[in-house]
Amino acid sequence: MRGAAGCFSTPLFLSFLFLVACTVATSPAEPAPMPVEPDAEAPADPVAGPEIDAAPETSIEAPELADCYGALKQGGLIICPAMPGSLVELGEMRLIAGASGTVQYGLPRTMPEEIDILRGNVTTTLTIAPRNDELRVVPGFDCDKVDARTPAQKAHAADSWEKKQTGFSLFYPGRGALDGFILPADARPSSPFGPTRQYIGVSKTNGQPCESMSVHQGFDLATPVGTPVYAPAAGTVTLADPDLYYEGGTIFLDHGQGLLSVFMHLSEVDVAAGDHVERGAMIAKSGNTGRSTGPHLHWAVKWRNPDTDNRGGDYYIDPALLLELPVAD
Ligand SMILES: [Zn+2]
Repeated sequence: MRGAAGCFSTPLFLSFLFLVACTVATSPAEPAPMPVEPDAEAPADPVAGPEIDAAPETSIEAPELADCYGALKQGGLIICPAMPGSLVELGEMRLIAGASGTVQYGLPRTMPEEIDILRGNVTTTLTIAPRNDELRVVPGFDCDKVDARTPAQKAHAADSWEKKQTGFSLFYPGRGALDGFILPADARPSSPFGPTRQYIGVSKTNGQPCESMSVHQGFDLATPVGTPVYAPAAGTVTLADPDLYYEGGTIFLDHGQGLLSVFMHLSEVDVAAGDHVERGAMIAKSGNTGRSTGPHLHWAVKWRNPDTDNRGGDYYIDPALLLELPVAD
């Protein structure tokens, strides 16, 4: 299993990653947006003269909001203009519009093909295109392989896990996907987001067949070691570590609005936690570190509900779909 076939030498890690819900979540909330009050009706001005009866009754209803838009496909993202501080319901999800005047909702990879969006008292329905992710059978799986075997490896893996939970729990203000995303490295894609990989093999110790399933949660780029990695959108670094156990050199970059990019297997990390970077800034060099099976850049984007401290409900969306959003100058 090399190159595009996998990011890690075993999918067990993936199960571990996605099954364990975060129990520590302290989220510095986005600064409370200023509530926007509809303008009160202006008192009639007795000296306004002849223009008084020309003025029509003014409505004090909220202004009409632009349509929601985005990458309208399972695993994509909806952007809905909304008054800062107002509640928007997207299907079952309830979000508060941020200071950017939008809510941005990452669409689960498996979701209904229609979603109702309630803003104020107006409901609109959007059609969401289905995915057709394939199932890939990966034979020759090493059933007996167990990662983090020695006490030192286990300690390293546990320490890495703690660091990641902290990185996932930090929220910074930002424009999310509002200004679009660019490819984080000048390289061709080597493995898309979405396919389920079914690893099958036979144990050498007991002769029994075994299998393991995992969904590829990132978008891999075929980068030789040392390829510059750029911020795909502006953001604030919440984790920068040269040596996590599975992920190797790793950066988490919070774009705001709940969107967080994850870069793994880096050979060089050129930012520090807390740094703010603009879109296109060089943040790292790609590599083959951690439990990588060949040089590549693993770029994943996690959508986190900014309005809850429960990090267990967060999930990954398809980075390639973010590249379809309009990119601001
Ligand atoms: Zn990957």
